[in-house]
Amino acid sequence: MVPYDLYRLLQCPTCGSRDLIVTDDGVTCATCSAEYPRRDGYIDLMPRGVEFGYVSKYVSEEAELAHELDYRDLAPPLLAAGVRNRTLQRLLNLRPTDIVLDSGCGNGKFAAWNADRVRLMVGVDPATLFADEAVRTVALIQGDARRLPFADSTFDKAFSIDVLEHFPRDVIDAYLCETARVLRPGGRLLVFSNTREPSRLQPLIAASRWIGRQFVRAGLYDFEREARRKSDHIKALATWEDVLDAMQRAGLRPVRVVFWNSVVTSFVEHVLMKLGEAIVGRSRKNVTRCNGAAPTGASLPIGEGVAREIRARQRIRARLRRRGLVYHALLAVTLVMELDLWLFGRLRSGSYFVVVEKGAQC
Ligand SMILES: [Zn+2]
Repeated sequence: MVPYDLYRLLQCPTCGSRDLIVTDDGVTCATCSAEYPRRDGYIDLMPRGVEFGYVSKYVSEEAELAHELDYRDLAPPLLAAGVRNRTLQRLLNLRPTDIVLDSGCGNGKFAAWNADRVRLMVGVDPATLFADEAVRTVALIQGDARRLPFADSTFDKAFSIDVLEHFPRDVIDAYLCETARVLRPGGRLLVFSNTREPSRLQPLIAASRWIGRQFVRAGLYDFEREARRKSDHIKALATWEDVLDAMQRAGLRPVRVVFWNSVVTSFVEHVLMKLGEAIVGRSRKNVTRCNGAAPTGASLPIGEGVAREIRARQRIRARLRRRGLVYHALLAVTLVMELDLWLFGRLRSGSYFVVVEKGAQC
């Protein structure tokens, strides 16, 4: 959606002017004359005439990925996404007066899940594969995190989930600096990402993966889709020290850290859930409409493993919407997965949640 409140926060991402004219079709910059059209549910506020060296594959391969990302239909926040969401709520302490930014929002699921908790939830992403629910509840912007279309000190809070691991280091620096610029002094950013550091509990995690591989070998399911999702993880911040240095360079001070040693989580994801998906997705009957159909019509043939996983997820989502037994069972599994944070949250590992604060003097 494009609520009126959003316009008051904007500045031209091309020239930095705040002198913007709102028109029937979108926004025009009175200073540099750049035009930013309003599209179906979002405004295109990409900086004009700027060539960035790095482009995420979600942007360069948007049409191809649209089909398999299966992005339109949101399930409730459960399992690993549920743990991320519950931790986001707990650590960022969202309030009804907050103006909040999700920078690199993807399909906007975390923004949508929390939109009713805050005054205004804004989601920015260069790709426009937004979920239907996000289009209804989140102020969506097609934009580049290195040149955000907002005035300084606009947001009370911001979050960044599964973003930094995709970027090279110079992009991370630009991303964090821009996020710090648009946060108000004392404003907080929550980051969830991964370094290359192994968990000290790695043998336990490896055991779950090993069991998972036995299922793959037996032909029960494959990890084709997951492998593609993770194929552009660079993890330029290789160690926890790298993370702290990057935050410091951006003028952001860590105030809270929780590591995620995925001991319970791996067992649930690699063994329990995949087994469940294999069972639910096995039958080809009752194939529902393909929610991820590319708007441009360009789609690649997808493998059987991917098709099966998408089928399983569509059926599970249909059941979850009824909030019945399956929903409550998965919520219970989510709470069990969260045990990893309560039990091992202080034990350094690759996956981390960190809350950082912008200094009052910035
Ligand atoms: Zn301008």
